[in-house]
Amino acid sequence: MEIKCRFCRNTDHLSHGYRKNKSGKKRVYKCLSCGKTFSHNDGFLKMRFDKKFIGKCIYLFINGMSVRKIVNYMKDNEGIEVSHATILRWKSKYGGMLKEYENSMVMNYDEECTINSDETMIKVNGNFHYLWGSINKETKYLLSLILSDGRGMKDAIRMFSECKSKMKNDPKYVVTDGFGVYPRAFKKAYFKYSPPRAYHVVSAGIKDRGENNPIERFFGHVKDRTRTTRGGFDNMNSATDFMNLFSVFYNQIRPHMSLNGRTPAQAAGIDLNLKDNKLLDLIERSADWHGDHINKENEASQKYQ
Ligand SMILES: [Zn+2]
Repeated sequence: MEIKCRFCRNTDHLSHGYRKNKSGKKRVYKCLSCGKTFSHNDGFLKMRFDKKFIGKCIYLFINGMSVRKIVNYMKDNEGIEVSHATILRWKSKYGGMLKEYENSMVMNYDEECTINSDETMIKVNGNFHYLWGSINKETKYLLSLILSDGRGMKDAIRMFSECKSKMKNDPKYVVTDGFGVYPRAFKKAYFKYSPPRAYHVVSAGIKDRGENNPIERFFGHVKDRTRTTRGGFDNMNSATDFMNLFSVFYNQIRPHMSLNGRTPAQAAGIDLNLKDNKLLDLIERSADWHGDHINKENEASQKYQ
């Protein structure tokens, strides 16, 4: 990855020795444009732990280990003491950072396509909340995932709108079940006067449900994963952090058997060509993207510099 000045994004620089901190030695550069010295932001600048260690903790969390178990595992197997609160901070930081980055990507799949949209209940702090999602049937790419307190029209509109904003062209079909808010929410999000228009298809039968429906399968993965947290989340922040990490991992990192070993992102025309440690590489690209957007009134990006 090209090294850019953290202050002005210029790529011309000279080596300027090393800087040492708790997690190791970091190369320092001197920018030939603004004259400031800087280290390359690989997404782990100023972190007290080694990035491979942080990546491992996040990976275990996404793949089903509870935070408490990760703390014990790292102590017993790697001899490294990390606190519960530190891992919570990491999943919040990297979840937000990766999600913001992914939100900037637009699906390039050109052919007429189908979107499956649905909602399901999830437990947060003992109460029921809703998770709304949309997946492209052909590429399995997850286009929107929304958490809400209620199950109303505005939530369905948010889901459809987020999905639409991440596609270059409108889909041909949007398939939902017969739940009452969908027809009007669909019109609000998708209606336009000139064709080609998207069509709303209400799937009432059993045939298109279950295994055949990618969004229901995705919800199934979420539910499998939340079994380790006794079927729910402690609070909305924790649920949001989890959804951010889990959805980006699903789209960008995990190969899909039905896509011949490609990721949904690759199938959808968003190929980041991630290197061997895909999670760390994705975080590094995300830090680079946030750096490029920091001057554009993007508060979130500033948080990640
Ligand atoms: Zn500079």
